[in-house]
Amino acid sequence: MKILFILTVFVLAVSFNPLFAQDKTANNETPLRIIAFGAHPDDAELKAGGMAAIWAAQGHKVKFVAMTNGDIGHFESSGGALANRRLEEVRECARIFGIETEVLDIHDGELEPTLENRKKVARLIRDWQADIVLFHRPYDYHPDHRYVGVLVQDASVIVAAPFFTPNTTPTKRNPVFLYYSDNFLKPYAFEPTLVVGIDEVADKKWGCITAMPSQFGDLHSWQASTLPDVPKDDLGRKGYLLNIVKQRNESIAVKYRNRLIELYGNEKGSRIQYAEAFEICQYGRQPTMGELKKLFLLNVQTKNKPEKVIPWQDGSLLLSAELGKGIGPKIAYMPEESAFGWFTAADKVEWEVQVTDPGTYAIYLDWSVSDDEAGKPFILETKGQQLRGIVGPTGSWQSYKTIKIGNIILKAGTQKLVFKPASKFKTIGDKGALLDLRGIKLVPVN
Ligand SMILES: [Zn+2]
Repeated sequence: MKILFILTVFVLAVSFNPLFAQDKTANNETPLRIIAFGAHPDDAELKAGGMAAIWAAQGHKVKFVAMTNGDIGHFESSGGALANRRLEEVRECARIFGIETEVLDIHDGELEPTLENRKKVARLIRDWQADIVLFHRPYDYHPDHRYVGVLVQDASVIVAAPFFTPNTTPTKRNPVFLYYSDNFLKPYAFEPTLVVGIDEVADKKWGCITAMPSQFGDLHSWQASTLPDVPKDDLGRKGYLLNIVKQRNESIAVKYRNRLIELYGNEKGSRIQYAEAFEICQYGRQPTMGELKKLFLLNVQTKNKPEKVIPWQDGSLLLSAELGKGIGPKIAYMPEESAFGWFTAADKVEWEVQVTDPGTYAIYLDWSVSDDEAGKPFILETKGQQLRGIVGPTGSWQSYKTIKIGNIILKAGTQKLVFKPASKFKTIGDKGALLDLRGIKLVPVN
């Protein structure tokens, strides 16, 4: 009787808290719990497979969910047979990444932003007790992608509400929601909050792509049927399609090189070949950049090491805060943000730049400022030229923006560029600052 009682208590204890009666991470921390929604059985794999493998390798818990079963995305087969094949394919990816996966039984091309589906999404987030939720932006090309965006956004506010889908446990606090990268420009372009280098796990990602022939291998797979110049022979075609996925991850690293350098430091950031990118959603919890970096295991503390800026492969010059020289009474480099903060009109930052392609450069400013501190004038100066502007609002000190502020002409050789305030301003207590500057990007015009 006593044994039975102990046994019952033990079983109850285990079954009561199935999610948390588990192991620790490599660093002996409580694992993070990440859930990533894709419209089809390959979307989360394509957009976040590398990051998932990085989390999983350190003992964090990741789950991919395909909101539809992918039963029409092929030019030869369809229906239950194709859906089952795709389920097996993402299961193999999950095995490679070390994560869990689930495919909902909704027809491909038929996902709708209904209350029923909102509840499904909320239950999945709650059951997983997610800290981080990844998903498509609601501006993506495919209706299923867009509705995943809408459904997750609509679920974001209610996952912590005790009486919504009350048969599931609310999340302890609101998770952090982030979008996958895409190239759609309307109504506005993707703006990366985090860009993650995936070189160390790239082979796992390519292994997953190879494990999905219904998407990236068959003669009549979607990709082979819709992309130009796809080879007809099996081996050639598979290599060609895999290469396209590699190129997409490579182009993310190239496009957001400045963010990689800001996040990883110049040395590592400039060498990363493959990347994935994520943008914070304005719904859900809004962590500081320091906390966000921890959530994505970016434990790099950059150091300010003034050094000559040399052109990147595409000719652009990345004047990161890390490489700039702070001059003035209160200029401060912030390692967590990889940015300079300004507090007096006498503060400035100077970069030494190696110009090999003389000519016109478009100037992009990467900065943040709170709305009440915005509006002060600045100058970007190089020999014989001044580019003047006003520091526009970005919403908060935590949210950075990158915007083109004008052009300058650079001569060949070593130049100095200086960024500084254009007028005096008063600092009272912690009030009165110009901006936080992460960097300035110079892109050759033609
Ligand atoms: Zn898709």
